Amino acid sequence: MRKVTCFLFAAISILALSCQSRIEGDIVNVYTHRHYAVDQEIFALFTEETGIRVNVINASADELIQRMETEGENSPADLLITVDAGRLNRAHNKGLLQAFDSGQLTKLVPKQYRHPEGFWYGMTARARIIAYAKDRINADEIQDYAELANPKWRGRVLVRSSDNVYNQSLMASIIAADGEAKATAWANGLIANLAREPKGSDRDQVKAIASGEGDLTIVNTYYIGQLLNSDNEEERKAGESVGIIFPNQSNRGTHVNISGFGIAKHAKNKESAIKLAEFLLSETVQQKLAITNFEYPLNPNVEMANLLKQWGTFKRDSINLSSLGDFNDQAIKVFDAVGWN
Ligand code: FE
Repeated sequence: MRKVTCFLFAAISILALSCQSRIEGDIVNVYTHRHYAVDQEIFALFTEETGIRVNVINASADELIQRMETEGENSPADLLITVDAGRLNRAHNKGLLQAFDSGQLTKLVPKQYRHPEGFWYGMTARARIIAYAKDRINADEIQDYAELANPKWRGRVLVRSSDNVYNQSLMASIIAADGEAKATAWANGLIANLAREPKGSDRDQVKAIASGEGDLTIVNTYYIGQLLNSDNEEERKAGESVGIIFPNQSNRGTHVNISGFGIAKHAKNKESAIKLAEFLLSETVQQKLAITNFEYPLNPNVEMANLLKQWGTFKRDSINLSSLGDFNDQAIKVFDAVGWN
C-alpha cells in the first residue's frame, strides 16, 4: 500500500512538473511599440495555430527599453518589437538583446534590414516620404528632403515633433549621408518654413494639409494607405487631398525604416519567441500587414498592397539600418540646436 502511495505521489509530482513547464513554455511575453490594430489579430492567429499565448505589453520603445533595463534578469520580456531600427540598435547597445540564429529569418529578411550578428530582424518596411497639397503644389516643384528647407516654402511646411522616433531616424540618415553641419543647416531652413509649431502625429500633418494649414509634410507611407481606406470620411478626404513624393530618387534614395524585433537577453521563453518571430515573417502574416496596414512586406514571396503597387517601385537609401543608431545622439543634438521641439 505504502509503495502504491509513493508511486502515486511520484507520478503526480512528475505530472505537475511537466504541466508547469508546459504552461511556462506556452506563453510568450511581447514588449511592443507597434500601435496598429492588425497586430492583435496576428497574435490571436499565432495562439490559434500553436497554442502559445501571447501576452502583450504596449508602450513606446524608449519606455520598454527603460523597463527592461530596470527589470534586469527578472524581466519577463521575451520579444521586443519596435517601429524603427534605431530603437532596436539602442536596445542591443544596452545589452538587452541576444543574438539568435534563424535560417528562415536570415533567408527572408534582406541583409540591409537585419543586424549582421542576428541581434534583431526587420518584419516590415516603411518609407518616410513627402506629402503635398495636390491642389496647391505641383509635384515637380519638390524632389528631395533638402528642398523642404527652401525659403520659397516659408510658412507652408508641417512636421511632427523631434521626440518622435521616425523623425530621429530620418535625421540620423541625413547626418549619415551629409554630415552634421549640413544636416543642421537643413533643419534650420525647415524650421524657418514651418506653418505651425511641430505637433501631432503623422496623420495629423496630413489632416492639417487637408484643412489648409500647410502644404507640405513628411509622413510614413502606411499612414497614407490607412487614411485613404479609413471608415471615417474626414480621414479619407485628408488622404485624398495629398499627393506623395518619394524623395531623393536622383541621389541616395528615400529613407526607409523597418518595424522589427529582437529576442530579450533574459527571455524565459526563447523558443516560443523565435516561433513567433518566424510567424511574423510568414506569408499569412506578411500578407495581412501588407493588405491591412499598407506596410511593405519583407517576405519576398508576398506582394505589396495595390495602392503601393500604384505608387511604383522607388530607389531606397541603401544605408544598413544597423548603423542608423550610431547617429541618433547627433540627431537629437541637431534638433536641439535648431529649436525643433
Ligand atoms: Fe507608426
